[in-house]
Amino acid sequence: MHLERVDPDNLPSLHDDEATVTGKVPGSRKLRERFDELHDRLAKLQRVFYADGRHALLVVFQGRDASGKDGTIRNVCGAFNPQGCRVTSFGVPSTHELAHDFLWRIHNAVPPRAMIGVFNRSHYEDVLAVRVHELVPEAIWSGRYQQINAFEAGLVANDVIIRKFFLHVSSDEQRERLQERLTNPERNWKFRAGDLDDRARWDEYTDAYREILGRCSTMDAPWFVVPADDKRVRDYLVARELVDTLESLDLRYPEAAPDIMRYASLVD
Ligand code: AMP
Ligand code: MG
Repeated sequence: MHLERVDPDNLPSLHDDEATVTGKVPGSRKLRERFDELHDRLAKLQRVFYADGRHALLVVFQGRDASGKDGTIRNVCGAFNPQGCRVTSFGVPSTHELAHDFLWRIHNAVPPRAMIGVFNRSHYEDVLAVRVHELVPEAIWSGRYQQINAFEAGLVANDVIIRKFFLHVSSDEQRERLQERLTNPERNWKFRAGDLDDRARWDEYTDAYREILGRCSTMDAPWFVVPADDKRVRDYLVARELVDTLESLDLRYPEAAPDIMRYASLVD
């Protein structure tokens, strides 16, 4: 069970049935064990990633309200040492941010080498919420796909590894989670009236997401559609992709100074 990069020539439909995995899923105990194992591997990989210092890793999470962005970040990125990881959430831009180009606040949050940067929403909102709610004219947002690709290509050329995850929930699952959110006093603070407005525009968001997948899933900065109705499956799939990404990098601890053993005898 693993994710495939989105192939723009074979776009996912993003229908509700794609929010669950097809084929055999391990039982919940087995899945838990396998997730825990990936979690341990992620923790070890992050340590050597930091020491190696040659790359930055940028992990982008997008998804509708209640698709599980917060939960995935907590469960999967919780494996990383907080010193080596920074999570940035992008909400409605401030007046100050709006006075700049749309990528300004994004670029500012891109991780430096040795660090892992996690985006909870991202520059893709500028072709999602902005497009669906007509916050800028089409002539403006339609140019952004190309600007985003150029921006991401520039980052990749400068040692930033990019992985983008769309957490795909079905309409029924989102309804249940939003209802839960309204009735649970520990969760209802997350609810905003705008969530229902976005839910009412379900199909427009689907079109906007498909356009992103079709235009911005590149070789170097691929998109993955994560079937996210089942939270454990979701976490497992994202963790597995990040393990594979980090393992493909041939990470190494730097060589110690040649005379290091001389110092060892001096520690008293
Ligand atoms: P949440 O993730 O639930 O805290 O909500 C953040 C809200 O900010 C969502 O409704 C996003 O659509 C919205 N948002 C994020 N980025 C932008 C943007 N660039 N322009 C307009 N709305 C945005
Ligand atoms: Mg929200």
